[in-house]
Amino acid sequence: MVGVVGCGLMGSGIAEVCARAGYTTVVREIDDDLLARGRQRIEKSLATAVERGKLAAAERDAAAARIRGTTSLQDFAECDLVIEAATENLELKKHTFAELDQVCPSHAILASNTSSIPIIHMATATRRPERVLGMHFMNPVPFMPLIEFVRTLTTSEETLEVARRFGESLGKRIIVSKDRAGFIVNFLLIPYLCEAVRMLEQGFATREDIDVGMMLGTSYPMGPLTLLDFVGLDTTLYIADILFDEFKEPRFAAPTLLRQMVTANFLGRKTGRGFYNYESGERPPSR
Ligand code: NAD
Repeated sequence: MVGVVGCGLMGSGIAEVCARAGYTTVVREIDDDLLARGRQRIEKSLATAVERGKLAAAERDAAAARIRGTTSLQDFAECDLVIEAATENLELKKHTFAELDQVCPSHAILASNTSSIPIIHMATATRRPERVLGMHFMNPVPFMPLIEFVRTLTTSEETLEVARRFGESLGKRIIVSKDRAGFIVNFLLIPYLCEAVRMLEQGFATREDIDVGMMLGTSYPMGPLTLLDFVGLDTTLYIADILFDEFKEPRFAAPTLLRQMVTANFLGRKTGRGFYNYESGERPPSR
């Protein structure tokens, strides 16, 4: 049995892919209202998969029936693996891992989907640090084929192997990073996105030419400014600040333009305006 803590954006996606792969899944939220909203998100996503011909209606029903919602961590007592996808907050995560350690069977592996908190903090909140690792799913979870695993100083080889088999059974490719800020993907992606903003800020080229350059010149599916609007400028700034804090390297320093756009609430698609003004009907360049 798989347990998922949190049924927000990521937790609902993780619960969905586990259930679709055949695992009995229990997902915990803090109250019934949030649980109902998470459940709706899962149902909507399953319905989209059916509409797009990616999932048969019978498989959708079977997957939905494998997911049980709860507000109590006591319902994780039979879990072999728990994936924590609660709000990004160190104290909350440490507390949750200490609780999970009390409730879950001794063989259970405990994983965190955190984007930025060193996994060692969660590992050392338990009495089983060898069975704790990072499982960093990508958003949207049902669609993105990658999971970044994070191995801490204490994660055992056996834990990594069991987790790898599990990740592959979800149909995902696994990569393994050490326990340091940015893992693999954001360590490379964030300086690239910041550099694109600096180019725009310095008047080096237009936003369209920067985007078209990377799209058609390197076959990226979209340009960096378009991608920033998708990811959210606030999320990108948050990760850039964490990377800069840890490594103190100029390539991770957030450009002034990015910081000011976040202050102005130009956060990208979610607020209707980022590098492109979606509210006024602007569209980023496409192929
Ligand atoms: P979110 O705010 O959409 O969801 C978090 C959910 O956790 C909320 O619904 C909240 O009610 C719930 N929660 C809080 N405390 C809880 C507890 N004690 N028990 C159960 N549920 C609890 O956030 P999200 O975007 O899904 O992010 C969740 C985690 O995933 C974070 O650690 C984040 O860093 C990580 N992450 C996010 C992304 C992304 O693109 N959003 C990508 C990879 C990883």
